Amino acid sequence: MYDAVVAGGSISGLLAAREIAKNGHSVLVLEEGFEVGSPEHCGGLVSENALKELGIEPSPKTFDSKIECAKIFSPKGKEITINSKKQKIIVINRRELDKQAARQARDNGAEISVKTSFQEKTNNLIRTSNGNIECKFFVDCRGVSRLANKDRDGILLTAQYEVYADWIKEGQVEVYFDQEKYPEFFAWIIPSGKGVGKVGVSGKGINTLGRMDEFLKSKGNFSTIRKIFAPI
Ligand SMILES: Cc1cc2nc3c(=O)[nH]c(=O)nc-3n(C[C@H](O)[C@H](O)[C@H](O)COP(=O)(O)OP(=O)(O)OC[C@H]3O[C@@H](n4cnc5c(N)ncnc54)[C@H](O)[C@@H]3O)c2cc1C
Repeated sequence: MYDAVVAGGSISGLLAAREIAKNGHSVLVLEEGFEVGSPEHCGGLVSENALKELGIEPSPKTFDSKIECAKIFSPKGKEITINSKKQKIIVINRRELDKQAARQARDNGAEISVKTSFQEKTNNLIRTSNGNIECKFFVDCRGVSRLANKDRDGILLTAQYEVYADWIKEGQVEVYFDQEKYPEFFAWIIPSGKGVGKVGVSGKGINTLGRMDEFLKSKGNFSTIRKIFAPI
């Protein structure tokens, strides 16, 4: 019997559990993945102030790089540069950020159970892949996957690759708008260091794999070290 059960052991679930535990209540986080923070489905671009507001000071493992500016490109290649030094934008390693949040939740007394899938809630009973649990409150932090069978209209598919490439400039985010290629979204480059970063594309009804191939070819030489396909 727990005061609260949280479904989803990612950033919102773990921070919710941290706050619930901090206030003296018993709480269990259910994460269906085999590891907190994995697979990493995030570009990691965040503001330092937002993290501070959430009570997280990025550890050396969590912090990847600092962003100095963003270049925004039009379909015809016109560009504007926005200096982002004042906004204190950083790139974090999302896998490590989630682990840091898990540590905070745990230190405040929350329990975390990985490879445990939330299945159903009836009254005060939570059915999971590892048996039933009783609780007074249920917090749903399953993220976008919760909407997968309901509100598909608002969901776009993304492809995001981690690549090594000389054209990835440290400290410089790039955003490419083109409503024909990326309807209702855009393509992006988020550097996590010199010559390494995350390249992504998303758009309504597009073949993300094909669009990503085109985008990467247009940029020049590269090596892909990781690929993810996720809803946003
Ligand atoms: C390609 C991509 C790039 C992005 N880049 C950025 C960025 O640069 N900056 C930024 O701020 N945001 C970015 N985002 C958005 C960001 O990832 C999300 O806003 C954020 O992860 C939402 O956190 P969450 O905890 O609400 O949900 P999620 O991170 O989606 O976590 C949901 C968790 O619930 C678990 N779960 C699902 N169903 C169950 C179940 N039945 N039982 C148990 N567990 C379950 C999942 O395994 C997962 O761990 C990006 C998203 C994508 C897809």
